[in-house]
Amino acid sequence: ATAAEPYDVVVIGAGPGGYVAAIKAAQLGLRTACVEKRGSLGGTCLNVGCIPSKAMLNNSHIYHQTQHDLKRRGIDVTGVSLNLETMLAAKDNAVTGLTKGIEFLFKQNKVDYIKGAASFVSPTKISVDLTDGGKSEVDSKNFLIATGSEVTPFPGGGIPIDEQQIVSSTGALSLQKVPEKLVVIGGGIIGLEMGSVWSRLGSEVTVVEFLGGIGGAGIDEDVAKQFQRLLTKQGIKFKLNTKVVSAEKQDGKVFLKAEAVKTGKEETLEADVVLVAIGRRPYVEGLNLAAAGVELDNKGRIIIDDQFNTSAKNIKCIGDVTFGPMLAHKAEEEGIAAVEYIKSGHGHVNYNAIPSVVYTHPEVSWVGKTEQELKAAGVKYNIGKFSFSANSRAKTNMDSEGFVKILAEKETDKVLGVHIIGPNAGEMIGEGVLALEYGASAEDIARTTHAHPTLSEAFKEAAMAAYSKPIHM
Ligand code: FAD
Ligand code: NAD
Repeated sequence: ATAAEPYDVVVIGAGPGGYVAAIKAAQLGLRTACVEKRGSLGGTCLNVGCIPSKAMLNNSHIYHQTQHDLKRRGIDVTGVSLNLETMLAAKDNAVTGLTKGIEFLFKQNKVDYIKGAASFVSPTKISVDLTDGGKSEVDSKNFLIATGSEVTPFPGGGIPIDEQQIVSSTGALSLQKVPEKLVVIGGGIIGLEMGSVWSRLGSEVTVVEFLGGIGGAGIDEDVAKQFQRLLTKQGIKFKLNTKVVSAEKQDGKVFLKAEAVKTGKEETLEADVVLVAIGRRPYVEGLNLAAAGVELDNKGRIIIDDQFNTSAKNIKCIGDVTFGPMLAHKAEEEGIAAVEYIKSGHGHVNYNAIPSVVYTHPEVSWVGKTEQELKAAGVKYNIGKFSFSANSRAKTNMDSEGFVKILAEKETDKVLGVHIIGPNAGEMIGEGVLALEYGASAEDIARTTHAHPTLSEAFKEAAMAAYSKPIHM
């Protein structure tokens, strides 16, 4: 093929949705290019999201544990101190290594990496503002839009993000000093993960949340309550049913006005740094969607059908920029399915089996339906719950807070939802995802041998509790 010949697929955006789709397309024998304007591959997730936040969560946990948890284990350490510069450098190292890894995968799979910002000229042509200068026009038989999301700014413009004192998650990943007082606006996943990081490193953290519970959309209420109790024990303060209305910078501090949602009672919160974590919104800036005939809904999301088709022929869309949970693994699954549709007309994503994980300590994870959702749908269910305090491995590890909760349909025993708060909940949810994917019953899981002594025995016992009785509780 010559450069002038149209590609089979051009993917716009190289986040977890776009880069995975591009590799899969090339593996399926399609002539593929991926356009990315950021200067590095991996999108929000690798550059300023999943990866750097997990580096900070892991290392801040080790620091905190060394200070507060080693003594009772018979390990005496003295002179523990934080070297924030090194911790931030370790995070940056993880990011650089992984983004470079994708560049290698592109080469290996023969995906053309076009560095620049894409803009539609027509439904079959984009113009790319090249990072190294100049423009280039690229033709393709199919386009896949995977331009992701951006931070939702505080409504009304009253709390502008400067990434120094008033930060988004991006600034919160690179604070050069541990703030004395950190106020987090929004008790969703970002607020709790980044709030945990800075709390462990020494900040006094207050989370202000509009709703009556923490954890964001989709969390089971039972879990959310226990989660809040455990984070409170770790020193994080919560102001629920409260909304921040304005901010004022004065003498190096930020003074936030907050209002009780029900009574309207006002209070002022003082902060050295404020983290705005009230959600993310679809990102389509500069794409010139009108030239391609791609339509948005009233929330700014690109409208797609159940085969990822936008309103324009041969233009598909996946990931954060369209419907569904804003999660990296959801974007990846969609990316693979979308190019399979292009190649063969078939692809599949099971939206009922997409796990969520909050990488705090303990971790929180879930998949499938919550109790609230089952009640609202009038579905009758059994609950099997098993506490890590009755699990031998959690006990020996001296890390036994939390539980596994399995919801199974009363009539058929089919697993409908799994909710975990506890050590390693993020890895353990894989078993719940598989159960939903395969349509397992609680009894199926309960009759499956789980190695002893492992945390996953709590999963088995919760399944036993759902269809009969557990042994150890
Ligand atoms: P993105 O990753 O946003 O990638 C889109 C890419 O498109 C960007 O690189 C952008 O530069 C590029 N682009 C946009 N417009 C153009 C254009 N016109 N031309 C060329 N390129 C363009 N999810 C999880 O599942 N697990 C986690 O632990 C997790 N942690 C997170 C932590 C934080 C702090 C944040 C902010 C998010 C986190 N997420 C996590 C969410 C996750 O990052 C997103 O769901 C995921 O990145 C979405 O992937 P995407 O491919 O749809 O878009
Ligand atoms: P979110 O939607 O999870 O939470 C935002 C929270 O802010 C909500 O609880 C909301 O009620 C609250 N809020 C909104 N306006 C408010 C106001 N004015 N005052 C007080 N509270 C207010 O959003 P997020 O935490 O910003 O995360 C954005 C996205 O990134 C999410 O979709 C999330 O799934 C994704 N993410 C995922 C992970 C993970 O998978 N571990 C980690 C980080 C981010």
